Amino acid sequence: MECRNYIGGEWTDLGQVEMREIRNPANTDEIVGRCPMAQREHVQQAVDAAAGAFPAWRALTYQERAKVIERASEVLEAKAEEIGRMLTREEGKTFAEARGEVTHGADLLRSYASLARQAWGGVFSPAKPDTFLYTLREPLGVVSTISPWNYPITIPCRKIPAALLGGNTVIVKPSQLTPFTGWHMAKAFEEAGLPSGVLNMVTGSGAVVGDEMVRNPIIRAISFTGSNEVGREIAGVAAGHGAKAQLELGGKNPLIILKDAELERATDLAMDGAMKGTGQKCTATSRVIVEREIAADFVEMLLEKVKRITAGDGMNPDTYMGPLVSETQRQTVLEYIRIGKEEGARLLCGGGIPSGAEYDKGWFVDATVFDNVDPDMRIAREEIFGPVLSVLVADDFDEAIEIANSVDYGLSAAICTRDVERIMDFVNRIEAGVVRVNHHTSSTDTHVPFGGVKGSSSGFREHGIMAVEFFTQVKTVYIQPLSR
Ligand code: NAD
Repeated sequence: MECRNYIGGEWTDLGQVEMREIRNPANTDEIVGRCPMAQREHVQQAVDAAAGAFPAWRALTYQERAKVIERASEVLEAKAEEIGRMLTREEGKTFAEARGEVTHGADLLRSYASLARQAWGGVFSPAKPDTFLYTLREPLGVVSTISPWNYPITIPCRKIPAALLGGNTVIVKPSQLTPFTGWHMAKAFEEAGLPSGVLNMVTGSGAVVGDEMVRNPIIRAISFTGSNEVGREIAGVAAGHGAKAQLELGGKNPLIILKDAELERATDLAMDGAMKGTGQKCTATSRVIVEREIAADFVEMLLEKVKRITAGDGMNPDTYMGPLVSETQRQTVLEYIRIGKEEGARLLCGGGIPSGAEYDKGWFVDATVFDNVDPDMRIAREEIFGPVLSVLVADDFDEAIEIANSVDYGLSAAICTRDVERIMDFVNRIEAGVVRVNHHTSSTDTHVPFGGVKGSSSGFREHGIMAVEFFTQVKTVYIQPLSR
């Protein structure tokens, strides 16, 4: 199977370019397919196609554009099983998670389409009589979206419909690790009847394709989700030619467990938040901060559960946790486990590669829990992006908040307690863009703002009206009769 690029309404094979082999991370003997590593000239072709398609697309009404987005959501929904299977083979997450991601993506598209009937501007009281004074929201032009591999459906579905609804034409880059899921995304819009050139997909490396999608002077806005390192670089390049940059970056998300929490539920939340998706979520619960009084009981109950986790091929219905996405990702995770031990944290379970023939050909790693973790340790401060949970102990609520806020990230945070006073205090004082009570730090509704604070985000929000606002600009209009 070969992944083609979608440029100007054509599925093109790009000719003589390097082809990257995509292998199943649960079984690297299985080749999923081959994907072209496009060059800068191919991005330029996509930019030209998008620029050509822009005038007709921007001339449509919000409601006309929303109809195409709505149809694309129906295509995704109808193909949830097929795309879910591809996502599991390409990225490794369990089939239940993968299929769920596709239906969540369809819901995101529906949610954006529903905004078409919202008010997009305002009517104001004028300074001069008989003046009709109002604002409009207009598209920016050609924009680009750059996504990581961990949510190859959800993340494009946060960005692409927001850009399209606003009247922009788009260049889309999936991660080089998950191009086939990206291919399905573009296909859904094609099948929905999106006019040629309005959406273009180019596959390849970040250093070439991604960089050109940021640097090209025709591109008016870039919506990027990925690592902090790349995000910061993109912000600088975009600012250099006056393009807007929306950055959704990493997380080091805390779950605070207070002494009145119900431990059965709190341990379930800690485990699922940390280990689902093999911990490869920007919103993964990577730190549990537990009040000292219940810390020993909490850890004992948590370990009982984590030790029962079944790793394996995501297509096996008994699998709780698939492999990591790649060898590099596994090396990073194993290196952090080594660092944690070296820093003096206590390894309570996991810490290595599961043994058995079924794990020999995949990028598996054990579900791993550390305690005796000090807030200054690197495993407590840096994003690991794997199934590694650090348990930190706090003397009381105030110390728990202090520890939670002591990192550079601020994406998502949660607390388990029945105490309403503490809940309100937590909501006020926690430094995070998404806050949950009596839930872990992951999972989001599709119609409310999503994004982080501090190092986790540029501050723009995804989902809903705020996402479309990023991709549009305001025009203020004064209409006066000639006689005035
Ligand atoms: P990454 O930064 O390596 O790559 C993300 C995307 O950027 C890829 O498509 C890549 O090809 C491209 N890219 C790389 N270098 C580039 C450059 N110089 N110019 C332009 N594009 C470039 O991240 P990743 O490893 O794919 O994803 C994992 C990271 O994503 C984690 O840090 C995770 O926290 C973050 N993430 C954040 C969110 C969120 O919403 N905040 C969601 C998911 C993942």
